[in-house]
Amino acid sequence: MTNFRLPGPTPLPPAVLAAMQRPMINHRGPVMKELYRSILARLRDAHRTSGDVLVWPGSGSAGWECAIVNLLSPGDRVLSLVVGDFGERCTRVAQAFGLDVRRLDRPWGSAVTADEVGDALDREGPVKAVFVTHNETSTGVTNPLREIAAVVRAHGALSIVDAVSSVGAMPLEVDDWGLDFVLSGSQKAWMCPPGLMIAAVGPRAWDAYAASTFPRFFWDLGNAKKFAEQGMTPATPALTLLFALDAALELISTEGLEAVWARHAALAARTRAGVRRLGMTVFGDERFASSTVTTVRTPDGVATKELLRVMKDEHDIELQGGQGQIADTTFRIGHMGWVSEADIDDVLAGLAATLAGVRTAAVVR
Ligand SMILES: *Cc1c(COP(=O)(O)O)cnc(C)c1O
Repeated sequence: MTNFRLPGPTPLPPAVLAAMQRPMINHRGPVMKELYRSILARLRDAHRTSGDVLVWPGSGSAGWECAIVNLLSPGDRVLSLVVGDFGERCTRVAQAFGLDVRRLDRPWGSAVTADEVGDALDREGPVKAVFVTHNETSTGVTNPLREIAAVVRAHGALSIVDAVSSVGAMPLEVDDWGLDFVLSGSQKAWMCPPGLMIAAVGPRAWDAYAASTFPRFFWDLGNAKKFAEQGMTPATPALTLLFALDAALELISTEGLEAVWARHAALAARTRAGVRRLGMTVFGDERFASSTVTTVRTPDGVATKELLRVMKDEHDIELQGGQGQIADTTFRIGHMGWVSEADIDDVLAGLAATLAGVRTAAVVR
C-alpha cells in the first residue's frame, strides 16, 4: 500500500473505511438522531468545549465563508495574520465579501507572535475580528494560538481560527483559550475523506451572529444549531461521511486526545531529526515547528518534482510539493491523523535512497 503522506487528504484507518460500507439511513429518523448527537458530543470533547460544534457538507475552505456571513457585516474591519499560503487564501475570502481587511504579514516560515498582533490591533484601531491560521500547512509552522487569542480578546475582537490542519492532532482548547470560531475539514487530522466542514462556535460568536447583517442561508449558524438540538441538520447530511467521522472520533477517543497530541508531537520530532540526519534543512522557525506537517527545503541541485516523482514511482511514497512562493524550493511530509513511527521511518529511508540516486545521476550527467 502506498505510504500516503500528504498534509491532507490523509490516509483512512480500516475502521473508517469499513464504516462507509453502511447502507443509508433515514436522515430524519432515530438512528440519525443518535448518530449526530454522538458525533457532536465527541467533537465537543475533541475541541475541548461545552459550547456548540456543527457539521456541514463542504471542504475546510467553506469555514471561512461560514464565519464571515454569520459573524460579520459588510465593511467590517478585520485583521488577517498572514505567514503562508493559507493566510493568503483566507485574506482573499475576506476581501471577496467586502470586508475592510488589514493585514499583518510576517515572512513565510515565521510565526506571528501575540505582541505583534497586539501592536497591529493598536495601530489599526477597532477591529471586529482577527483571522488566524493555527497551523500554516504551507510552511509547517504553528502560530502560538493561545497567546494570540488572549490578545485578540483583550482588544474586544473575535478570533476566527483556521484549525484545518491542527484540531484533532495538536493542543487546541476552545473554552480555555477563549476561541470564538474554529473551523476544520474532515480530510486532515480527523482521518476522514474530504467533504465535511466542522465549526466550533463560542458564546461571543453567537452575540456577533445576532448583530451580523450578511445574507445567509446554507451556512446559517442559528438554523444549524436549531436542527442540531434535534439531532439533525437543516438539509440532507452527507451520511456516509458522518458514518466515517463517527468511526474516526471513536478511534481518537479510544486512543485518548492527549495521547493523540503526544503521538503527533513525537512523530514530528522524529521526522525533523531524520530530515536533518539526511543533510537537509527543515523550512521555518524551529521554535514553532508543526506537529502535523514538515516542510523541507529541497537540497541544492535537486529538482523538487523529480524528487517527488522518484519517491512515488520507486518507493511508493507520496509526498506533497511546496505551496505558493515556496512551491519549487520545498516539499512537504504530512504526518497527521493515521500515522505511525514505521510510516515516518519508511519516508526517511525512501528519501535517503532517492537523494543518493538523484545525486549520482547528477554526477554521471
Ligand atoms: C487544507 C487546508 C485548508 C483548505 O481546506 P480545503 O478542505 O481544501 O478547503 C485551509 N486551511 C488550512 C490550514 C489547510 O491545511
